[in-house]
Amino acid sequence: MNRVLRPIFQQTVGALSGHRANNKLLVLTYHRVLAEYDPVIDEVDAVQFTRQMETLAEYFNVVSLEDGLDQMQAGTLPSSSVCITFDDGYRDNYDVALPILSALNLPATFFIATGYLGDGIMWNDVVRQTIKSTSLKQLDLQEFSLGRVLIDTEQKKVELIEKLLGHIKYHQVDHRIGMVNRLRDIAEVEISERLMMNEYEVKELSRAGMEIGGHTVNHPILTCANDDEARNEIVQGKLFLEKLLGKRLKFFAYPNGQAGKDYNERHMRLVEQAGFDAALTTNNGVIDKDSGAFDLPRICIDHTTKFKFGVSLARGYVQYAN
Ligand SMILES: [Zn+2]
Repeated sequence: MNRVLRPIFQQTVGALSGHRANNKLLVLTYHRVLAEYDPVIDEVDAVQFTRQMETLAEYFNVVSLEDGLDQMQAGTLPSSSVCITFDDGYRDNYDVALPILSALNLPATFFIATGYLGDGIMWNDVVRQTIKSTSLKQLDLQEFSLGRVLIDTEQKKVELIEKLLGHIKYHQVDHRIGMVNRLRDIAEVEISERLMMNEYEVKELSRAGMEIGGHTVNHPILTCANDDEARNEIVQGKLFLEKLLGKRLKFFAYPNGQAGKDYNERHMRLVEQAGFDAALTTNNGVIDKDSGAFDLPRICIDHTTKFKFGVSLARGYVQYAN
């Protein structure tokens, strides 16, 4: 830990040590952990992830989601408790994150969208991979309401990816697939890399002691689906993973995960009726005893530097610890 960061942690952890069982549970959300730093794909890489996990192992009490929530109910949750979660089911979770977690003996939960296992690719990754790997310097994106876009630098590619993701996100699943296929044609890109885990890798995660959770089949924004579709997505994803793993799924994470925008009370009930014990959101916050079991907040780690990671952890605690 560097000289700038250490005092922040000592202050934060020190301030919390007075709360023997402070009953605040910080849950971190990751998506990808890249094998190597990539300036266009804005995700944590292996070196950063290793440092972050070492920081957690040294300064925090890392617990499984199940233990954390149980201990919170029992009022015995140690202070500075943290859970680690991953959404979507990326192959690098198995290739890159698992060995790092195992070496430090840290538990984690992986929420898998089952429709992408194997050769699937999520629409947002088609956008990222397409813009990252196109050799064209300019794209005609009038049908995306973006006109002609120059992408002759990495920074411009990053900005275009953000604009496209925002533009395509809230369309129906079928429509999104059509849009990203058009984008791929315009950019003249074929994507061959397998980005998601396969069934074997999910089983291996489970065998290594990691928790697997539900995240629907096709990762729809639930508020954009009708209730039958939403129920089907939630239930079928659960049944598939339970059959694969031979054990009951306890936890669910809402696709995209923002209250009101991406899920609502109806979806919370559907998840409960499907037989899950609890559901995680992407609403920013720390879980306490008053948090609803199907409305649990997390802190998303999309920062790419150790310092920001530390500050965001510290801020999470300072803001929510009483
Ligand atoms: Zn997701």
